[in-house]
Amino acid sequence: AEAALRQSQKMEAVGQLTGGIAHDFNNMLTGVIGALDIMRRRIAAGQIDDLDRFMDAASKSAHRAAGLTARLLAFSRRQSLDSKSIDANRLIGELEDLMRRTIRENISLRIVPGPDVPFAVADANQLESAILNLAINARDAMPDGGQLTIETSVVELDDAYSAATPDVKPGRYVVVAVSDTGVGMAPELLEKIFDPFFTTKPIGQGTGLGLSMVYGFARQSGGQVRVHSQPGVGTSVKIYLPAGQVIETDDTPRPDVVPEGRG
Ligand code: ADP
Repeated sequence: AEAALRQSQKMEAVGQLTGGIAHDFNNMLTGVIGALDIMRRRIAAGQIDDLDRFMDAASKSAHRAAGLTARLLAFSRRQSLDSKSIDANRLIGELEDLMRRTIRENISLRIVPGPDVPFAVADANQLESAILNLAINARDAMPDGGQLTIETSVVELDDAYSAATPDVKPGRYVVVAVSDTGVGMAPELLEKIFDPFFTTKPIGQGTGLGLSMVYGFARQSGGQVRVHSQPGVGTSVKIYLPAGQVIETDDTPRPDVVPEGRG
């Protein structure tokens, strides 16, 4: 949970950082557009002798913008995933306290751990931060209160499903569903929610990065995200992660071990 909190703070910093970068990038574009405008006016007026200066200014500004995006891309590639086997039910249990503190008193939190959920193969810190992000979105969608439900299950996706959903291999997946009884989303809104920087929240409250990061995490882990939403009813976001081994609990019989004191 500590790591998740750190991750949320990191995301906040990323949001501020990207806001700053967008501002710088915009300044560089303004430089290019300004120089082009001047050139166009001068050419229209027949003053073509001193255009080099503006060409140079536009070119310099454009190169600085290209340098900025190149650095940004290099930075985003550096963050690799540390895939391990995660016990999703345990991870959610460890997050419970933090989630309760994050939501308001008028929202009730229900945690429904599914039976026989195998390990999920993914990065634990990223899953924590994904769940926290979804919980924050759910909270924001329920200003008048409601219910936040976090549920786990295991599903088998077959060939037919995979054919309809390219890039998703058939097989077993651990599903973490975060559902709310909030405002919901109309289809036009649903289409945009995974776009980076898309937000309907006031400046300073939303970065528009939450769902795009959740999506990126799931896809990089070999899984996917599905969203069901109905205006006025609520929203359910499901993260699918590839399933690994079955989790052995104390009451899971192990056929290869003969219990002591018997036989
Ligand atoms: P942010 O939360 O910073 O706005 P997100 O990428 O997490 O960024 O979400 C993008 C947008 O999707 C939100 O601004 C909101 O309009 C919508 N959205 C996300 N989750 C929900 C939800 N649970 N209920 C209703 N709308 C949601």
